[in-house]
Amino acid sequence: MEELVHVKNTFYTTTITVIIVSLIISLSLAVQITTSRQQSIQQINTSVANLSHTLDVYSEGIMRQSEMLITSVSDIIKIYGMTPQQAKNIQRMISNQDNLLIQINNVVVYDAQGNIFTALHESFSGPRKGVDRSFFIYHKENKSQQIFIGQPVVSRTNGKWVITISRRLETPTGAFNGVVVVTLGIENFLALYGQINIGHSGVIGLTTQSGVLLVRHPFKNNYIGAIVSDSPLFRTYLKVQNAGIASSVSRFDKIERIYAFEKNKRYGLVTTVAVSTQEALAPWRKQALQLSVLILVFTAILIAASCFLYSDLSRKTRDNRALKIIASEDALTGLFNRRIFDEKILSEIAACAASDAPISVLIVDVDYFKKYNDNYGHPEGDRCLTLLGNSLRESLNRDNQVVARYGGEEFALILPDTDIQEALRLGQTIIRNVFSLHIEHAFSPFGRVTVSVGISTARAVDIAGSQQNIIIAADQALYQAKRAGRNRHAFVAV
Ligand code: GH3
Ligand code: MG
Ligand code: MG
Repeated sequence: MEELVHVKNTFYTTTITVIIVSLIISLSLAVQITTSRQQSIQQINTSVANLSHTLDVYSEGIMRQSEMLITSVSDIIKIYGMTPQQAKNIQRMISNQDNLLIQINNVVVYDAQGNIFTALHESFSGPRKGVDRSFFIYHKENKSQQIFIGQPVVSRTNGKWVITISRRLETPTGAFNGVVVVTLGIENFLALYGQINIGHSGVIGLTTQSGVLLVRHPFKNNYIGAIVSDSPLFRTYLKVQNAGIASSVSRFDKIERIYAFEKNKRYGLVTTVAVSTQEALAPWRKQALQLSVLILVFTAILIAASCFLYSDLSRKTRDNRALKIIASEDALTGLFNRRIFDEKILSEIAACAASDAPISVLIVDVDYFKKYNDNYGHPEGDRCLTLLGNSLRESLNRDNQVVARYGGEEFALILPDTDIQEALRLGQTIIRNVFSLHIEHAFSPFGRVTVSVGISTARAVDIAGSQQNIIIAADQALYQAKRAGRNRHAFVAV
C-alpha cells in the first residue's frame, strides 16, 4: 500500500516535472521565436533601408547630370540667343552628352510658343508642339528657375514612358522664353530595379515629392503617373522625416509590406523599397515551425516516456508486492512464515528492550496430528491447518502480536509487552478457541482436534542477542504440555 502511494507520488512528481519542463521549454521557445522574428525584421529593415539609400544616390546622380545638361543648354541660349545657328550648336553639344548619359531619351528645347527650337532626336510621332505638356504649362506660369520633375509621359519620339526634367528659359528681361526638357526613359530605372532581388512581391518605386509615381518595379502601365500623395507615406511619414521604415498594406495589390523610404534632399524624389512581410519572414516562419515541431515531438516523447515509466514502475511495484507477499506469507494458512518470524522476534525483542518491557513467546502444536493425517488424508490435514491458522489469528487481541506458521503443524506467536499472566491467559484462549472449532478427530482421546501450547516469558533486555533461548524455553514448555496429556498449556521461564 505504502509503495503504491509512493508510486502515485512519483507519478505526480513526474507529471508536474514534465508539465513544468514543457512549459519552460515552450516559454523559452516563444521568447526565442519572438526574438528571432524581431531580429529578422531588423535585418529586413536594415537591408531595405540600405537599398533605398543606394537607389536614391543612383537617381540623384542621373538627375544631377540631367540638370547639368539643362544648365549648359540654358546658358548657351542665355548668351547666344535662339538663332538657327545656335540650334545646330546645341544639338551637337547634347549629342555628345547623350553618349555619356545612357538614360537620356531626348533633350528638347521649346520656344516661348511651344514650338521645338531644337532636339536631340528630331523624329516626333505626335504633335511637334509642347504647349499641352504639363511641364510647359508649369514653367510658363511659374517664374522659378529650379529644375522641375514633371509627371511621367509617353515620349512623342519613341512612344516609351519617360520622366521629364525641365527648366524655364527666360529672356534677359526675365520674360518666359521657352523650356529645356530632358526626358529619361523609365526602362533604364526598371532595368536596374529588376536586377535587385526583393522577392516575388517586392516593389521598388520612385515618386516625385508631390506624390506622382514615376517608376514602379514590377512595371504596370496604369501605375505610372498614379497619384499616391494621399498614402500614409506622404500624408504622415514624409511630413516628419526624410527617410525611414514603415509597413502598410498596398492599395494596389492588398499585400502587406515592410518598406523603406528616402526622400532626396536635392530633388525631392522619393525612393521606396518594399518587401512583402510574409515573404520576408518566410525563413523565420520556417525555422519557427521546425523548432515548434521539434519541441512538440520532444514534449510528446517526454510525456510518453513518463507514462511508460509510470506504468512500468507501478507494474514492477505490483510484482514486487506480490513477490514480497509470496516471500513472507505461508501459502497454506496465510500467516507469516518462519523467515518473517525469525525477523520479527529480533525486532520485537529490541523494541521491548528499549522500554524495558517483557516479551512472551507461544509455540502451538497440533495434538495427534499424525493420526489425523493418516486417517483423514493429507488434504484434510491441510484444511484443518488452515482452520487452525484462522482461529489463531482471531485469538490475537493486539496489533503488535505476531502469529506465524513455524513448522509443519506448529505455530509460533510473539507477544510484545506481555507478562506471564497475560501470556497464560492468551494460551488458554487459544486452546479453548481451537477446542470450540469442533473439528472431528476420532483418533484423539478428545474426539476432536486440539492443540497444546508452550509458553515462555522474559524481560526483553535479558534475551537481547540470544533470542533462541526464549524459543527453546517455549519448546520445552510445549513438551511439558504434551507430557501432561495435551490440550493444555505449560510455562517454562527462560
Ligand atoms: P503430538 O501430539 O505429539 O504432537 O503428535 P503428532 O502426531 O502431532 O506429532 P508428530 O510430530 O509425530 O507428527 C506431526 C505430523 O504432522 C506429521 C505429518 O503427518 C503432519 N504434518 C506436518 N506438516 C504437515 C502439513 O503441512 N500438512 C499436513 N496435512 N500434515 C502435516
Ligand atoms: Mg509437532
Ligand atoms: Mg503435533
